[in-house]
Amino acid sequence: MISYGKQSIDQSDLDSVIEVLKSDWLTQGPAVDKFEEELNNYFGSSYCSVVSNGTAALHLAGLALGWGPDDIIITTPITFLASSNSIIYTGARPEFVDINPKDFTIDVDLLEEKIKKLLSKNKKVKAIIAVDFAGQPCNWIALREIADKFDIKLINDNCHALGASYFDDKKYAIKYADIVTQSFHPVKHITTGEGGAVLTNHSETNDKIKLLRTHGITKSNDKLGKYDGPWYYEMQDLGYNYRITDFQCALGISQLKKLDNFVNKRRDIADVYHRNLSEIDHLSLPFTRSEVKHAYHLYPLQIDFNSQPNSKADFFEKMYQSGINLQVHYIPVHLQPYYQKNYSYKHGDFPIAENFYLNEVSIPIYPNLSESDQQRVIDSIKNNVKF
Ligand SMILES: *Cc1c(COP(=O)(O)O)cnc(C)c1O
Repeated sequence: MISYGKQSIDQSDLDSVIEVLKSDWLTQGPAVDKFEEELNNYFGSSYCSVVSNGTAALHLAGLALGWGPDDIIITTPITFLASSNSIIYTGARPEFVDINPKDFTIDVDLLEEKIKKLLSKNKKVKAIIAVDFAGQPCNWIALREIADKFDIKLINDNCHALGASYFDDKKYAIKYADIVTQSFHPVKHITTGEGGAVLTNHSETNDKIKLLRTHGITKSNDKLGKYDGPWYYEMQDLGYNYRITDFQCALGISQLKKLDNFVNKRRDIADVYHRNLSEIDHLSLPFTRSEVKHAYHLYPLQIDFNSQPNSKADFFEKMYQSGINLQVHYIPVHLQPYYQKNYSYKHGDFPIAENFYLNEVSIPIYPNLSESDQQRVIDSIKNNVKF
């Protein structure tokens, strides 16, 4: 079965993990610091905290920014649930702004409208979580302008876009956002099994994240209120166990070395899709803005199923019978039963996202997708889309 995404693990990855497994440290050893340093080097941030997963990274980002009840945080409805759930964990309220129909990232004009509308009701937006959907950086110049104009913190949920470029800069994410979060889940660009990271240039934010990652406990002499002896530690805040193990970080270090190569392979696969699928009626390919180099975490097709004799579910079933397991990214978050029930969101609230969902199909893209498997995907699409 060909799936929409898959990790690439080679012998050098295995060797790196085994080396740590044979060492004295299984958790919180030297590989943690090394991985953080390498992530800082690659992404241009001053500080990095690696954590147990990308959701924990988002949660810690919100806690570090002091979110709580009555705070409003805006995100996009076309994202993985974690972007929005992490807002709720802190007690804050998630609000959504629709995507723009061209590149499917948060619409900056609608965003500004929404912020102004809330302000007119005396409600201030505390932060924005923008998502570089599918691997395409958002309109970060406009997002930064809006954030500065209205004094709002900016988070880049960068989980889809490691290795992407914005104005030829792979270090774009931390240039524009106050905090950048990453995930190292196996379908993402690099993996540690489960894992994530929080990047920032603010030392206080980083201190807070490091504290909350491990129960709010510190042993640092300069941070302790008193000193009873070498065993002494203090719990200074209510934190979590969001640590990642040393052997996972060893895998991360090894994977990060291959990130450019992984992204190039994804781009090559995308090129083959572009060439083979561009002439099909009722089907449109992902559009890339000119200032962007896409990282292709996903290859989101839009198929006009209204024009088709078969439903989207039939199309999925036919593709499955040809050995291809497609996915949909995403069911709009506001339509999830939990969100409808607790926040009164309903169908029609974000029509562009809802229409995008009806048409969206994510086809397989990952570095080790073979030419013959990709050809099978292309042939099956051509056989099952009537044009
Ligand atoms: C994968 C992902 C996450 C969550 O990451 P986990 O490591 O699975 O917790 C958050 N946001 C987006 C956009 C993602 O794709």
